[in-house]
Amino acid sequence: MPIPPKLTAEQRSAALAKSTAARQVRAATKARVKVGDLTLSAVFDLAKSDEAIAKMRVVELLESFSGVGKVRAIATLDRLQISQTRRIQGLGTAQRQNLLREFPDRIGATQRGRLLVLSGPGGVGKSTVAKALRATESFWVSVSATTRLARHNEVDGSDYYFYSDAEFDNAIKSALFLEWAEFAGNRYGTPRKPVEDALRDGKNVLLEIEIEGAKQVKASAPEAILVFLQPPSWEELVSRLEGRGTDSPERRAARLALAQEELAEAGLFDISLVNERVEEVVDRLIGLTNNS
Ligand code: 5GP
Repeated sequence: MPIPPKLTAEQRSAALAKSTAARQVRAATKARVKVGDLTLSAVFDLAKSDEAIAKMRVVELLESFSGVGKVRAIATLDRLQISQTRRIQGLGTAQRQNLLREFPDRIGATQRGRLLVLSGPGGVGKSTVAKALRATESFWVSVSATTRLARHNEVDGSDYYFYSDAEFDNAIKSALFLEWAEFAGNRYGTPRKPVEDALRDGKNVLLEIEIEGAKQVKASAPEAILVFLQPPSWEELVSRLEGRGTDSPERRAARLALAQEELAEAGLFDISLVNERVEEVVDRLIGLTNNS
């Protein structure tokens, strides 16, 4: 082993600053790959002039592609006979070509879709808006999982995936949810994979979820647009919740109390829309995906 050179204090702090900067470059590159902003070939290009990227391990790079975890990254390297410790700068020409075949450029061919989160107090009419949006085909609308019992008019797999508590626990443990939250005594969660697949395929995705879940989505996907749906008035919201024949009186009372707390959260959202007319809300939501 070579003897490490003796460094002065200044040299040591300069080396430290350089490695911190390199780590930051690599983290930013991986984040851009994750959201589909950089393709593999673009990273290879950047590596030609950026030492920090050139020194990134290939396995780390592959792992950062959306939908590719550590297991698949390692399996891909094994299959292509590339060492798990290989850095980008150490890849041979054939190895690069093989990797590019596995991770072809999609930007341009398929522009990533936008992620829109529609939230707001229970009873405000989110599910009616989501249904109307689904009919326009401008959005792929996510189907959530829930531990709540199905209402008489609901269909498993179309309105919700109705899970037992054990099934929901397992899904949490296996990190299958993009977000999940408890609401009025039941749990609700967004299955992660279908959302990621739809975004990658260039579809705009709508999540119709309650507020805690919306906050979780913003934390993990800052590019998501959070929309808060407001009732035209508090009285209107009360009458909608009171008029819901599908819930028991206790459940309606709990929902009313919750709605009051939820209304106070509007400020955390990117945009607030008043649900006067469903068609207007639908038009505004479609508009949000065009001008950003
Ligand atoms: P409901 O029981 O009336 O269908 O829904 C109750 C609440 O759960 C609504 O506010 C609805 O938007 C929300 N919700 C539905 N699916 C999800 C989900 O996947 N995640 C979260 N966090 N909330 C959800």
